[in-house]
Amino acid sequence: MKVIVLGAGVIGVTSSYFLARAGHQVMVVEKNSASALGCSEANGGQLSYSHVETWAAKTSLTSMLKAAILPNSFLSISDFTNKSFLKWLCEFYKNSSPKRAQENSRRLFRLTSYSKEVLLEILKEEKDLKFDYKNNGILHFYRDQKKLDCAIKDAEFCNSIGAKAQILNAEECVKKEPTLVKLFDEKKLAGGIFYEMDASGNSLLFTRALEKICQEKYGVVFEYDAEIKNIFTNYKKVTGINTSKGVFVANKYVYALGAAGDKLLQGIKVSTGIYPLKGYSLSIAASGEFIAPNLALTDAQNKIVYSRLGNIFRAAGTVEICGLKLNKNKKHIAFLKGSVRATFSDFGNANDVTEWSGFRPFRPNSIPLICEVKKYGNLLLNTGHGSLGWTLSAGSAKILSNLVSDQKDERFGFLEEEEESL
Ligand SMILES: Cc1cc2nc3c(=O)[nH]c(=O)nc-3n(C[C@H](O)[C@H](O)[C@H](O)COP(=O)(O)OP(=O)(O)OC[C@H]3O[C@@H](n4cnc5c(N)ncnc54)[C@H](O)[C@@H]3O)c2cc1C
Repeated sequence: MKVIVLGAGVIGVTSSYFLARAGHQVMVVEKNSASALGCSEANGGQLSYSHVETWAAKTSLTSMLKAAILPNSFLSISDFTNKSFLKWLCEFYKNSSPKRAQENSRRLFRLTSYSKEVLLEILKEEKDLKFDYKNNGILHFYRDQKKLDCAIKDAEFCNSIGAKAQILNAEECVKKEPTLVKLFDEKKLAGGIFYEMDASGNSLLFTRALEKICQEKYGVVFEYDAEIKNIFTNYKKVTGINTSKGVFVANKYVYALGAAGDKLLQGIKVSTGIYPLKGYSLSIAASGEFIAPNLALTDAQNKIVYSRLGNIFRAAGTVEICGLKLNKNKKHIAFLKGSVRATFSDFGNANDVTEWSGFRPFRPNSIPLICEVKKYGNLLLNTGHGSLGWTLSAGSAKILSNLVSDQKDERFGFLEEEEESL
């Protein structure tokens, strides 16, 4: 069967990989001139299989408003009057009740643990796939005891659903990651939780390497510089996609356009509930005298993740609610730089830092859409992975590819509930 995948981010490329392996004839259509130049380019690099606590569960309206007003915080909001954002916010808070939040976490964990299994399967099959992968856990550290106590309760929940969380005191944290000694010396390290199942890797390198395998081993065609302008339908099915390079036609279409493509779906009356939550990252050259952390870390209070990706030390986080505006907000860059300086004794070469921003395709309940669109028999979605798109990419792609081949996996039956919301 001929399948067109819309978008060459980590989700589109992993989808095309499994589709091609299942024997389909696959074409990927992408507006940029290469893969992974959207949100998958310079994200935090963390494969957070255990970090399934949803954002709705841990964000109260008051803490959000407080953070939005503070000059030095992880959050800014300039899109308060946008109807889509307000609708998203209402749904977000509906998903913050403990019962709903825990159910969403359970579902996410089913997807993340499957994703780990599937990534290992890819690595077994594709020996040349190099992306600075490190399968040695992630340490979440806390500056104050109250926050650590709350995190311990969350860790107990994680353990109850199968994620392995280990509580560490401050000394044990420094033993695991010696660069935390600055916080320890300043008496600003209460302790941490070590999630041994977690890993890290460079999603840009992964996507590019998998793209090469898709082309060379499985004959996938990548059509670059082709911006999708509309999706054509006859009200029952998709009949083609209209791009800046002409119309492309297939038997089935897989939508994987992340946060930027939602307008195209709105054009055919499909509503995903996705809002773009912009985030920022710094890539600092980890070379010369600079002693950068080796272990992937999460600074839970500042909501920043740190990963060592080969010669890059990556700090990523913050949330800017500004729609799809591309301009760089200095508050976010300053917050990231200030947090790195406050946490580690060394910043490396300040002149060798690459600043980046991307839009997380965020659904209010943090559960992605991996489903068929009933209205149009031949359109499928693989989108809305929010802050966990890199983590969830492998598993989501295999579930999606199975759906294209009309094979439903009962373990992920809950994804059909998401389908009902379209
Ligand atoms: C600061 C930050 C840190 C993050 N850290 C992590 C992390 O540590 N771990 C984790 O798991 N996740 C993380 N994420 C989330 C993760 O990066 C995303 O969920 C993931 O990259 C989404 O992948 P995607 O393929 O859906 O979207 P994208 O990578 O954005 O891909 C979509 C593609 O569609 C293309 N496209 C869009 N519109 C059109 C059009 N009209 N025509 C043609 N092509 C089009 C785009 O150019 C793009 O290539 C982070 C995100 C941010 C912002």
